[in-house]
Amino acid sequence: MVSFADLGLSEKVLKAVQDVGYTEPTPIQEGAVPHALAGKDVLGIAQTGTGKTASFVLPMITRLERGRARARMPRTLILEPTRELAAQVDENFEKYGKYHKLNVALLIGGVSFADQERKLERGADVLIATPGRLLDHSERGKLLLTGVDILVIDEADRMLDMGFIPDIERIVSLIPFTRQTLFFSATMPPEIQRLADKFLQGPVTVETAKPSTTAKTVEQRLIRTGGKDYEKRATLRDALRSQENIKNAIVFCNRKRDVATVWKSLEKHGFSAGALHGDMDQRSRTNMLQGFKDNVIQILVASDVAARGLDIPDVSHVFNFDVPIHAEDYVHRIGRTGRAGRAGQAFTLVEKSSTKYLEAIEKLIDKQIEWMDLPDANVAQPAAEPEAKPARSKTRSKSASRSKKPASEAESADPQSELPASPESEGKDDRKSKIKAQNAERKSDSDNKKETKSSKKGKNDNKKPEQSTGFGDEVPAFMMIGR
Ligand code: ADP
Ligand code: MG
Repeated sequence: MVSFADLGLSEKVLKAVQDVGYTEPTPIQEGAVPHALAGKDVLGIAQTGTGKTASFVLPMITRLERGRARARMPRTLILEPTRELAAQVDENFEKYGKYHKLNVALLIGGVSFADQERKLERGADVLIATPGRLLDHSERGKLLLTGVDILVIDEADRMLDMGFIPDIERIVSLIPFTRQTLFFSATMPPEIQRLADKFLQGPVTVETAKPSTTAKTVEQRLIRTGGKDYEKRATLRDALRSQENIKNAIVFCNRKRDVATVWKSLEKHGFSAGALHGDMDQRSRTNMLQGFKDNVIQILVASDVAARGLDIPDVSHVFNFDVPIHAEDYVHRIGRTGRAGRAGQAFTLVEKSSTKYLEAIEKLIDKQIEWMDLPDANVAQPAAEPEAKPARSKTRSKSASRSKKPASEAESADPQSELPASPESEGKDDRKSKIKAQNAERKSDSDNKKETKSSKKGKNDNKKPEQSTGFGDEVPAFMMIGR
């Protein structure tokens, strides 16, 4: 079994890792760290939540022990797609660099230029930046990238999604050719491969999971919903209430404006909720995220951009308010749960018009996701959303009591229900059998398509989730220890 001590890291770094309490490197760390320490270019591909950050931070700190920084000439540069991710990497340097005196500068939007310039002036060992802000500083003449020895491009696929590739190409053109480049991504679409080919010289490729697979520990379900916004919000509430063991959850929306609406609606209905989207100022985002980490907020509504790669170790549930339009976003979203071997649940609301996106996802992850039957399926409800009732304080006790009741009783006894209290039960049974039939159909469909795999798959009985591979057929050892 490989330990951190086998990777060639310095004593001080090893001590800091020990203090954090990690016992073994994750597969990407085990694969990437020795090469990064040896000064090689590294192309690291591993799914979200597998510890990619430490796989470049640890060797960087070790290598930075020699030499010192000069004013306005940072020695290393890490590019991150969002401010949150940049801030997280900064936290990693604090954690793992606690026995070092590193000057780490964070250049992100929403923070004053003056403070950032002061840090740069002192000479930064590490510069962590989002592409736009970095270019702003460089254009103001306060920053020279000619002293950068190590360049890290993190979350490359997200950079692509966010349209940062031209910025990154410009930034890289300002950095000497003699640098070491470390390049990390959860997935490798062709455009990212092209970039890697361009930026990396004789790289070592470390790939620990097939791209676009989902962790084994995540149970995935689809929930049929009507397509109207109020129908979807009602379905979301039903889905939330159907789960008795929600520690915390992220609700993903495709559109920014839905993030705000869904958040307010959840609050109105007594859920403990917060929101994270790109238009919020930095302080609100940081506060929101901290509230979520501290469990003050139970449900975080977020857009893909705001949530990519966030270090929230313990999410028990993910809900997709919409089927993501880019199939790879699905992988990233559900990668927020089931991390480090913990069990997780992921639910996706599916309206009729999003079936084609669903098909693309199932193709990408090479797996049919099962449908779940909710007591209240909010499909084609005629009534509009009535006024909200006063907030309820607990969601959990509610869901517990609700789930024991038969569907029709639960519905009419529920003063919060937004559904018309009437002639619903018949339709529900219909839907139930329809869903059953649908699952069966999809199952037999998939059996036909992949005959060789059919023997491995479980029965389609809504009890056991089918499991896909995240780390090949083997669960890495670091995931097995009880946590
Ligand atoms: P990624 O960038 O691959 O999505 P992160 O670097 O954000 O993943 O790490 C995900 C989580 O795993 C973080 O909470 C981190 O603290 C934790 N982690 C990292 N390395 C280890 C390790 N060796 N053992 C246990 N947990 C780890
Ligand atoms: Mg990351």
